[in-house]
Amino acid sequence: MLTQKQMQNFAELAVRVGANMQKGQEVVIRCDVQCADFAHLIAEKAYRFGAKYVRIQWRDEALERINMLNASKEALSDIPDFLVAESKHYIERKVCLISISAGDPNIMKGCDPDKMQAASLASMQANKEFRAATMSNLLRWTIVSIPTKAWAAQVFPNDDPEQAVNKMWDAIGHIMRLDTPDPTAAWRKHIDTLHRRADFLNAHRFEYIHLKNGCGTDLRVGLATDHLWLAAEETGQDGVPFTANMPTEEVFTAPHNRKIDGKVVNALPLVNKGNVIDGFEIEFKEGRVINYKAKTGYDALKNILTTDEGVLSLGEIALIGKRSPIAESGILFYNTLFDENASCHLAFGASYPTTVKGGNEMTETQLAEHGMNQSLQHVDFMVGTKDIDIDGIGFDGETVALFRDGEWVI
Ligand code: ZN
Ligand code: ZN
Repeated sequence: MLTQKQMQNFAELAVRVGANMQKGQEVVIRCDVQCADFAHLIAEKAYRFGAKYVRIQWRDEALERINMLNASKEALSDIPDFLVAESKHYIERKVCLISISAGDPNIMKGCDPDKMQAASLASMQANKEFRAATMSNLLRWTIVSIPTKAWAAQVFPNDDPEQAVNKMWDAIGHIMRLDTPDPTAAWRKHIDTLHRRADFLNAHRFEYIHLKNGCGTDLRVGLATDHLWLAAEETGQDGVPFTANMPTEEVFTAPHNRKIDGKVVNALPLVNKGNVIDGFEIEFKEGRVINYKAKTGYDALKNILTTDEGVLSLGEIALIGKRSPIAESGILFYNTLFDENASCHLAFGASYPTTVKGGNEMTETQLAEHGMNQSLQHVDFMVGTKDIDIDGIGFDGETVALFRDGEWVI
């Protein structure tokens, strides 16, 4: 369990290092009703540092399940206008957004995949503008996470519920560097290390990244024209830095969506909308998925890969060493925020316009010309094993070792 002081520090990290809320700003907290206590702590911190107003957008995963089981496909796909208007209002007000990602990874188990796909498609379409506002850093935003009972039970199935929750708090406390005397300072140092690596990669301007390991991954990922490697801290369109994911261990950029060839095998299960997908491999040719199979959750994978055209290519390549605290914990969290930071990953679907030079000012056509992928989806999946070797390959064919046996060598 975390001490009260550590909880305070955690809330402060979300407000100051994460969203980097500025004085006089409005704050929107998104979270499940189970996380009310921590959301209130964040709200208090936000006011302490000068927030103008704090709102909470409540989610209720238990009700979402009840709806999914009982409502019709049509009703589930009918997103009311006032919800779209609410998002628009937040964009206009340039709120800073703090999401608490926590919940039961299996909440949708046994629900109709067809209904789930229809509902998620409708919600993604309705949220398109808001998502663009976060992905382009028009809004500053962050995601943090805390344990919930059902989630902890899945992560630590052999412990009694209370013990599982406590174990998870300890793990998250360590990963969030809350067990250091000055978590904010520890984060600043960590952010600097990641930025040094991003600078190295940007200086080399590689054409391809080559991933290879013992379980069958052998993939060449071309990089978008004028790509930019980013890490930890990004800059909002208002010039204020912020850290979108906490924790974050990744250095990432955009693949070129016509230059991806070879085969990739997943390293950790992919948990998507309450489904677990595992033992899968994907084959790419000239930037597109041409073949895929999965031992577990094939239908869920198929659901993802039939959303639209763009989902058949990649929007992100992210590098993470095996000595990151999340990887070292050896815990499978069944939650993307943690699991994607435990391992090198790729993402099906949309790329971040910020990962190409001048991307925020480009039209969709210009982004496409740079090889930037567009889709309603952005689904990360983990590919970094303990034995993975990664090279950067320059336009002149020069090869630079980036990873050996799962860890950075730069
Ligand atoms: Zn990532
Ligand atoms: Zn991602």
